[in-house]
Amino acid sequence: MIFSKEKITIAYTIEKCPKCEMIKKRKFSEGDILFSESSSCSSCDSTMLIEKIYGETLEQ
Ligand SMILES: [Zn+2]
Repeated sequence: MIFSKEKITIAYTIEKCPKCEMIKKRKFSEGDILFSESSSCSSCDSTMLIEKIYGETLEQ
């Protein structure tokens, strides 16, 4: 018997601080636009930019 595995794709957003180059990975939230300004950096207080948005496929 063959079971078909369910695949779930989760989108992630990578934010990068242009000043101290800290990278933060978080789950994608609606309204995230590539290269737009995002949250503020927790280390130097600059505004982080969204550097990458990608999806990871998980098999369950
Ligand atoms: Zn920073």
